[in-house]
Amino acid sequence: MPPRGGGPRGPMGGGFLTEEEKANRPKVTWPLLKRVFRYLLPYWKQMFLVLCAIVLSSVLGLLPSVLTGRIIDEGLIGRNLDMLIKLILLSLGVTLGSNLIGVGENYLNNWIAQHITYDMRNQMYRHLQKMSQKFFTSNNQGDVITRMTSDISGVERVITSTFTSILSNSITLAAAVVIMFRQNWILALVGAAIVPLFVIPTRLAGKKRWELTKESQECNDEINGILNETLSVSGQLLVKLFCKEEQEYEKYKSVNHRMIRLNIRESMAGRWFWVVISTFSSVGPMLLYLVGGILMIQYDSSLTVGDVTVLVTLLGRMYGPVNMLLNMQVEWIRSMALFTRIFEYYDMPVEIQNSPDAIHPARADGNVEFCNVNFSYSEERQILKNVNFKLNSGHSIAIVGPSGSGKSTIINLIPRLYDVSSGEVKFDGTDVRKLDLTFLRDNIGIVSQETYLFNGTIRENLLYAKPDATENELIEACKKANIYDFIEKQELGLDAVVGNRGLKLSGGEKQRISIARVLLKDPALLIFDEATSSLDSISESKIQEAIDPIIESRTSILIAHRLSTILAADEILVVKDGEIVERGVHSDLVKAGGTYTELYETQFRRALEA
Ligand code: ATP
Repeated sequence: MPPRGGGPRGPMGGGFLTEEEKANRPKVTWPLLKRVFRYLLPYWKQMFLVLCAIVLSSVLGLLPSVLTGRIIDEGLIGRNLDMLIKLILLSLGVTLGSNLIGVGENYLNNWIAQHITYDMRNQMYRHLQKMSQKFFTSNNQGDVITRMTSDISGVERVITSTFTSILSNSITLAAAVVIMFRQNWILALVGAAIVPLFVIPTRLAGKKRWELTKESQECNDEINGILNETLSVSGQLLVKLFCKEEQEYEKYKSVNHRMIRLNIRESMAGRWFWVVISTFSSVGPMLLYLVGGILMIQYDSSLTVGDVTVLVTLLGRMYGPVNMLLNMQVEWIRSMALFTRIFEYYDMPVEIQNSPDAIHPARADGNVEFCNVNFSYSEERQILKNVNFKLNSGHSIAIVGPSGSGKSTIINLIPRLYDVSSGEVKFDGTDVRKLDLTFLRDNIGIVSQETYLFNGTIRENLLYAKPDATENELIEACKKANIYDFIEKQELGLDAVVGNRGLKLSGGEKQRISIARVLLKDPALLIFDEATSSLDSISESKIQEAIDPIIESRTSILIAHRLSTILAADEILVVKDGEIVERGVHSDLVKAGGTYTELYETQFRRALEA
């Protein structure tokens, strides 16, 4: 049966569930269905049109089969040429009409699917944007992108293929059954009894073939694995040096042999499959002709040749929908699994969000206060323990401490990348959780260790902080960040491309651009996470020259690894194992003989001498 525009459609994938799919079978509940249909609701008018089109094209699609009966009885047997031509033209017209409706339905269907996926993608993106830092650090980035791309594209397929296929196949089947019973109930019953005879072997053969395909795919993977391992540059060297050529060859030969056996079995399963199908598809009509003939000749003189032909043709049209509807169960489960996965993401709570009565002060001064702050990323380990400190507007604090002591964690709490487990972080005297998030983040500028630049020009990266900055403001910021000399030397100046993630620039250049970016933002509080990675001494001194005057004039917190930065700050906090163990100024701390002295001896002084 050739596929038609608006008629029954085929399944989209294999008709059987894998073990993994069986294990993760979604629970199809009423709330889940309601939720899926809520996405369809805004398009109910278009959906209604699609439904009408499907009903119309499915029913019209069956009409030529019914007309065949009249062509035979009234046109051929009745020897009526006028009627014959009329019926043939009608049949052709109906087929054309059904196909044209199919085209319209297809367009509408795609339109709906595209709009629904557009809505879902936007909703997902908006939701992901609101997710906390914790979400991004604990989830695999690939998973997030898969949800955004292939899972939501899967929805498109579900709407254009699965939903409409279920509808159109059910309608075709129902209409075929009704017409058959109206035509002759005895023959209709015989036809209905034949359908399973055809469907069951088809499914059994299909399953066998599917299993063989799966097995041969595994075998193929194994072959590829062997090739990759033993014919790669280092792999072949290992094989040679350990004289394992024979052993590897035997291994390869045996898998290769298994592969050919599987391929032969697979293609033979295909043969048997067709033998079964063609046998049963001829047995069905023959049986109907036999029973129809007996009825016509011996019992029911009103039954015509045309009636029997109609029944045989309709029987042929039932096989496809029955088979597809059986596969549809699998498609249905897959579709629901897809929606369940997407909804799981939608349902992830937004941990950090504006409180309903968030405060939006008129201006910010940049005062920061930590009051008895405790924090842990996970239940197992407490990271910050009872952290207390105060930074007044116009002053600067340097945080020092061994790697992993919790310095970055402290600063992450200020713009609410994470929320405290207990205690309070205050910005200008108000708990950050009570402040408007946009206000808070607008007034904090962070130059992080891992500088992130978008793929684009230097200008575009700078304008990200202040889209309406004038040329002069850009140049001024670059001069202050000590990067203007470098920009001037570029052929395209500010329009030089930084490359993907800023890869065309050195670490020091990237950091100075990000300092310029933060200066353009002109925040009330500046946080600078000094890079631990070794920069050459020229880059380092350029960064130093840039930040020293900034520290002087701005409220700032610096995670410092270099003595010059530390010395520029008004107060030093020494963090160890998540606690502030010492605080004060350099001259006092260095004499105290504690953690700071140790850090000074091992890190700062050595860096100074180098
Ligand atoms: P460094 O100087 O090396 O940057 P740091 O003092 O800034 O170190 P933090 O990054 O604050 O240290 O990390 C403190 C502790 O918290 C470390 O033990 C780290 O392993 C852990 N940690 C950091 N980020 C996370 C996270 N997202 N999830 C779980 N644990 C984390």
